[in-house]
Amino acid sequence: MKTTWWKAEEPGAVEQAGKLLREGGLVAIPTETVYGLAANAWDSTAVEGIFAAKGRPQDNPLIIHIARESQVQELAAAVPALAQKLFQAFWPGPLTVVLPKSSRVPSQVSGNLPTVAVRFPSHPVAQAVIQAAGVPLAAPSANRSGRPSPTSAQHVWEDLSGRIAGILDGGSCPVGVESTVVSLAQDTPRLLRPGSITVEQLRAVIGEVDVDPAVLSPLQKETAASSPGMKYQHYAPLARVILVEGPYAAYRDFVNSHAGPGVAALCYEGEQEGLRTDTVCFGREQDASGQARALFDALRQLDARGIRIAYARCPRQEGIGLAVYNRLLRAAGFEVIHIG
Ligand code: AMP
Ligand code: MG
Repeated sequence: MKTTWWKAEEPGAVEQAGKLLREGGLVAIPTETVYGLAANAWDSTAVEGIFAAKGRPQDNPLIIHIARESQVQELAAAVPALAQKLFQAFWPGPLTVVLPKSSRVPSQVSGNLPTVAVRFPSHPVAQAVIQAAGVPLAAPSANRSGRPSPTSAQHVWEDLSGRIAGILDGGSCPVGVESTVVSLAQDTPRLLRPGSITVEQLRAVIGEVDVDPAVLSPLQKETAASSPGMKYQHYAPLARVILVEGPYAAYRDFVNSHAGPGVAALCYEGEQEGLRTDTVCFGREQDASGQARALFDALRQLDARGIRIAYARCPRQEGIGLAVYNRLLRAAGFEVIHIG
């Protein structure tokens, strides 16, 4: 299949992408979080195409993207008062809300779960293409399954060219990590995936929010995943990533004593000088938003440079730092070394 690369600002590009989507095609679109691989959410054959193009396990459900808050009524069987509060506070924006599913939503979208995940993105190109399509769009991240999520059209091209109809290039994604996912499908709201909207912000609006244990630890084999995506190896470069928790001086000494061919430091900006290894940076130490923006591109750079082992600085687990830590922890397969 020939994949078309449109610049979003090219005249007619958004309309063409919207038409292709409405007619069952697969198009990668920019959002404020990461690029999504979109399909018409009402079209189960198109949705099956997403799983085939990504190599995604069938039981890992997709998020449905809308461009008007009222569209949530067509997708959810019920919209509780707490959901309305969240929409008012955070939509449009990087928050996905899990609700009881309407029977109209194809089971392929929700991985056969009784719930549906919905998001109203704030990115102007995402909004324009959803409107042009005239239908809600099911869209997971536009990477090959298991790879780091794409934050640029180039990343999508590397993973999916030849497998999808087109890529709408809207530049690099301003947030850089996937949306916060909160489920309202049980008694107490539950954070399933941390993102740039923090658990503290959610609690300020809706009160009590539990943090799913899978956010910070590997799923136990016998427990069912509340968010099936959490049971799969994720965001993983080919390199083995090891998180190194401790102060900079101890990190530097540790990395320098493990230096060698194919070994890299995945460190913060400004730390390269003291390190006697290859380095790839992901933002500054005090800037968790900058780390979020840079992380997935940094993970892809490790592979481009043929790195075998990357020792990563360990982000602080507060605010959006929790999301950065959560993604790195998965990229590392939960391998963490404590030093200093
Ligand atoms: P991705 O779009 O690739 O970031 O993946 C979507 C994420 O949302 C995955 O981690 C899914 O497990 C999660 N998700 C989607 N739908 C649901 C749902 N109905 N219940 C719980 N988690 C969901
Ligand atoms: Mg994904």
